[in-house]
Amino acid sequence: MAAESTVLTGAQVVLPSGTGVQDLAVHGARITAAPPPDARRLDLTGHYLIPGFVDLHNHGGGGASFSGGPEAVRKALHTHRTHGTTTLVASTVTDDMDVLTRQAGVLSEFAEDGEIAGIHFEGPFISPCRKGAHSEALLRHPDPADVRKLIDAARGQARMVTLATELPGGIDSVRLLVEHGVIAAIGHTDATYEQTREAIEAGATVATHLFNAMPPLGHRAPGPVAALLEDPRVTVELINDGTHLHPAALELAFRLAGAERVAFITDAMDAAGIGDGRYLLGPLEVDVAGGVARLTEGGAIAGSTLTLDRAFKRAVTVDGITVEDAVQALCVNPARLLGRWDEIGSLEPGKFADVLVLDQNFDLKGVMRQGSWVKPLQLA
Ligand SMILES: [Zn+2]
Repeated sequence: MAAESTVLTGAQVVLPSGTGVQDLAVHGARITAAPPPDARRLDLTGHYLIPGFVDLHNHGGGGASFSGGPEAVRKALHTHRTHGTTTLVASTVTDDMDVLTRQAGVLSEFAEDGEIAGIHFEGPFISPCRKGAHSEALLRHPDPADVRKLIDAARGQARMVTLATELPGGIDSVRLLVEHGVIAAIGHTDATYEQTREAIEAGATVATHLFNAMPPLGHRAPGPVAALLEDPRVTVELINDGTHLHPAALELAFRLAGAERVAFITDAMDAAGIGDGRYLLGPLEVDVAGGVARLTEGGAIAGSTLTLDRAFKRAVTVDGITVEDAVQALCVNPARLLGRWDEIGSLEPGKFADVLVLDQNFDLKGVMRQGSWVKPLQLA
């Protein structure tokens, strides 16, 4: 059977070269510049077409977690896809090394099948001073031998490791990650400004949820925030849910880093896409009330219930970020960071047809992933 061809017509298409009304043609799984003459035409006048979102940091959703078995992984993945995330790096949380290496095995199969874009290990190599919703008893120093164990267990599918680089072994671990083509992310850290600069010099390129789980910006102790924001080599993750960051802090970061160096992430946990209740984040219990997830014990913020369609809408309707800059932060930058720019991150011919349909209010009306509708089109 010949691959199906569809031409999406009449919509404002957001492209790296600019935004304007034009046709977007899909042939099979990919975008094409030359659709066959008998291609089906679909009128999307009054809508926006943007690339599918790329989430670098996501623990789960739909009541299921990426720390669970294959069924749970599928459920969490499906939930985020229906909210526009067509590429997702699955994040683990601090746990026993044995549990993490086993989970790496589960997730690496999904990555090999192209269902997820790899694994992000958040912990156990983080600071007890900034542990957030990670289990203190299970934290450990970033001994390169242990870091190596996780890389090996992921069978080539480790994409990112978040670590407190100021801890013993931290800088050597950054170098080890870089050698293996794994992103070294600075986070859950108590580092000083100088220590953070040293980690960036060693090759760290991502700030794990900037501002959250690190010392605040001080005028005599600028800390990691200043070091990460000022360095053109670093991409800063921001959780744009209105809870994790004051709007002014978000604006400050966005302006300082520039749209090219921001990646909006969810840091989502199980409750994303469902609602309030009691959940697990790795081994810890979490209560979700009013969409805010907090540890049952101690009350630390424990991930988010965010989905990237909400992060996008908030960016353009509340934060005053342009559609193009929001696309940069949610699609382009994370795609480049993952080394996948040739396949995803923009609506250019030859790339996967990962296409989101938004209405004039920036509400998500359809999600196409690799040419198939994973959220069926709902037109008014
Ligand atoms: Zn996280």
